Amino acid sequence: MINGEEEKMGLVSYTKGVKTRKDHNCFGCRKVIPKGTVLNDSVCTDDGQIYHVRLCEVCEHLAEQFQQNGDEWYQGDLAEQPYWNEAKKEIEKINA
Ligand SMILES: [Zn+2]
Repeated sequence: MINGEEEKMGLVSYTKGVKTRKDHNCFGCRKVIPKGTVLNDSVCTDDGQIYHVRLCEVCEHLAEQFQQNGDEWYQGDLAEQPYWNEAKKEIEKINA
């Protein structure tokens, strides 16, 4: 893995397994992540702005694949992916 991506984005902290206390929008697909969801919370800086990156289960899965391939993606991009629905089905199967 190349770390240039993270440096550019300015990863401040990464917390695994955070239970959300209110509804959030997924950074990857902008769908609502209902409160009480357990996710990984990254805090990033970009252009002096500080923001949380919270991903739904599906985007977490897709983001991992992107990272493995060395591909970049931006906010909202993951909803455009044809595999979003496929990934969701896969995850539902795993969780069933
Ligand atoms: Zn998502």
